[in-house]
Amino acid sequence: MHRPTVQIRKIDNYHLPEVEEAVANFFSSIKSPKMHKAKRVLIKPNALGAYAPERAITTHPIVLEAIIRYFLKRDKEIWIGDSPGGSVAFDKVWQTCGFASLADKYPVKVVNFSTTNFRTLSYQNLQIKVSEALFQCGIVINVGKYKTHQLTSFTGALKNLYGFVPGLIKSEYHRANPDTTSFANLLVALYASIRNRITYSIIDGITGMDGNGPSAGKPRDFGLLFGSTSIPALDYTASRIMGFRLKDVPYLSPALHLEGILPSHIDIPISFRNYQLTDADIKTVRLTQKTLKYVPGIARKAFRKVYYFYPEVSDRCRRCGICVNSCPVKAISWQKNANPYIHREQCIKCLCCHELCPYQAIDIKKSFIAKLGI
Ligand code: SF4
Ligand code: SF4
Repeated sequence: MHRPTVQIRKIDNYHLPEVEEAVANFFSSIKSPKMHKAKRVLIKPNALGAYAPERAITTHPIVLEAIIRYFLKRDKEIWIGDSPGGSVAFDKVWQTCGFASLADKYPVKVVNFSTTNFRTLSYQNLQIKVSEALFQCGIVINVGKYKTHQLTSFTGALKNLYGFVPGLIKSEYHRANPDTTSFANLLVALYASIRNRITYSIIDGITGMDGNGPSAGKPRDFGLLFGSTSIPALDYTASRIMGFRLKDVPYLSPALHLEGILPSHIDIPISFRNYQLTDADIKTVRLTQKTLKYVPGIARKAFRKVYYFYPEVSDRCRRCGICVNSCPVKAISWQKNANPYIHREQCIKCLCCHELCPYQAIDIKKSFIAKLGI
């Protein structure tokens, strides 16, 4: 039985020396000989879209800077990359997230995973394309953001791996895996296919997000930085601290099972054993599909009539067109002299539009029963 360790630090703000010290302490626990032997490091932040760091949607640049400085001191070559969602230009995302200035300040190579070659990996009956950059670096540091998520309840380290899938292929996968369960299976397959390449994962929860995550929620000063070589153990621990149960996060059980990890066998610092963020708003993301899973097939049709949700464009829309261009099933269309319209009969409820709208103008409407967050 595998007994992984999760490291946790209380850090109140993005003060570089403090974050640097925590990161160095985290990395000192890595046993892999690659930490000494490998010449090239790939850092994979959460670069969901063009959002300023204070919005708490993307990994804070100070966390990345701490990692960059750690590896530069050890004479490593550093690549930093992602494949942001939606149709916003990569350069704009990089600039707004504060990552471009890191590339100006330090000798790091920026890699757009959407334009690199990719490799097709197989796991069980699923085939997944991932950026070739992942195989060109001996050390890979995965740096997610600590947030709620409308589709998967929680996002930390494992969901962050989805950024290794190049550009619009992500939309194809959403189309092919429209419900929470199949999308969770895809995430687990992705994890299973690339887990041996990931050296260490960090979740930046110094400022995170609760409520309507992953982009329209509330930034929260959680003051937590998490790290581990085990992604399932890390996400389990971080999501539990936010208040989620194992069954709330659909990919967690299969990912823990894959590694043979029992939650009770995860080592965490003693001071965090009973630690809980009691005021984190996680009720907003307890959603329909997770509940539907527990409804017997025969009653499901009737249940759907009273328990449903759907995305709707609000009057906060600025008509930027990102949702129209990003919907994997083309369920959003322009209307003459009006905001885009979501055709509910076509929508597969992947919530990409909600995730990618830069103005948080897409609301998730819920039926009365769904609002109860059962
Ligand atoms: S809903 Fe959001 S993403 Fe869609 S057009 Fe309006 S502002 Fe842009
Ligand atoms: S309208 Fe939004 S939620 Fe529906 S399929 Fe398109 S992107 Fe997904």
